[in-house]
Amino acid sequence: MSQLWKKNLINITPYVAGEQPKNDNIIKLNANENPYPPSPEVQKILAGKTAGDFRKYPDANAVPLKEALAERYGLSPENVFCGNGSDDVLATAFRAFFNSDKPIFYPDITYSFYPVWCELLKIPYETKPVDENFEIDVRDFYPENGGVVIPNPNAPTSIGVGKEFIVDLLEHNRYCIVLIDEAYADFGRYSCVELVKKYDNLVVTQTFSKSRSMAGMRVGMAFAQSELISYMQAVKDSYNSYPLDQVAIETAVASVKDEKYFTETVDKIKSTRDKGVKILRDMGFKVFDSETNFLFASHPDYPAKEIFEFVRSKGVLVRYFNKPRIDNYLRITVGTDEEMQSLYGAIRELLAK
Ligand SMILES: *Cc1c(COP(=O)(O)O)cnc(C)c1O
Repeated sequence: MSQLWKKNLINITPYVAGEQPKNDNIIKLNANENPYPPSPEVQKILAGKTAGDFRKYPDANAVPLKEALAERYGLSPENVFCGNGSDDVLATAFRAFFNSDKPIFYPDITYSFYPVWCELLKIPYETKPVDENFEIDVRDFYPENGGVVIPNPNAPTSIGVGKEFIVDLLEHNRYCIVLIDEAYADFGRYSCVELVKKYDNLVVTQTFSKSRSMAGMRVGMAFAQSELISYMQAVKDSYNSYPLDQVAIETAVASVKDEKYFTETVDKIKSTRDKGVKILRDMGFKVFDSETNFLFASHPDYPAKEIFEFVRSKGVLVRYFNKPRIDNYLRITVGTDEEMQSLYGAIRELLAK
């Protein structure tokens, strides 16, 4: 009798992000955040702000940021969409582009937010198993579908693909939207933003959270031909027409304009990462060649969960997924060299026991 209204409530299992511990002393290598601060130009913008600046609404379409991004990537502002982190941008793209009765395709091991959006938006989907080396077979994505989503590089595997794969994928998917999630592309070998001009069904998303050290500011973007961007814009303006706040817009512009700092920071992380692959392999780990700012690693003699718990007790937090196929792997965010030394020290202690 009572609480009959319950049958009309949404039934959804939300995405679970990496833990954000209260304790500041912990070395946090669990959420793929950047260990370095954003460009000093970002700090200058913040220093120049007063509370009175927030009296008015921000620029509804983040035009200054679209202009800065268009210039950086050799496109026009009409080819750029901005949102509150790429999660917001991806959710908008799922809503705008995946309205077919046919399932959308994505790899079985991938970003765990995709199934959540499919459930939320009632989008049918089919996962395509990656092989035993966690590689994606492009031929799995040839059959007719309602859309394709591939992160390149993939997460949490850290494995990337090159131009040949993406072109092949696009050539075999001319009748649906192909969405490439490039959250980690700045650390990888290939970004397909250049293909946006050629393929009218390609959408590429990127984020300020990883390579630009601005996860807390919530800025992400998509690149596509102007017609597709206008569909995303229509979805956005149907539920929230002011997603990016004034500070987010201005600091993101400052970040995009400081190319030198960006390149230096990405290079530092890549160098720490490549050293880390060797160090972990020397300790007996299986580690994939990473094209991201994290390492995906497994040890033949120690269960991942045990390593996760041991290093946590030593003050180092990495990510462990209790999920089929990957429950014996750790996803380790690349920190500073010093932070990585603490992790290696903790692991050595366990291996010596
Ligand atoms: C981190 C991440 C995102 C989104 O991050 P935002 O902070 O929302 O920009 C999207 N896709 C993948 C694969 C990621 O790892």
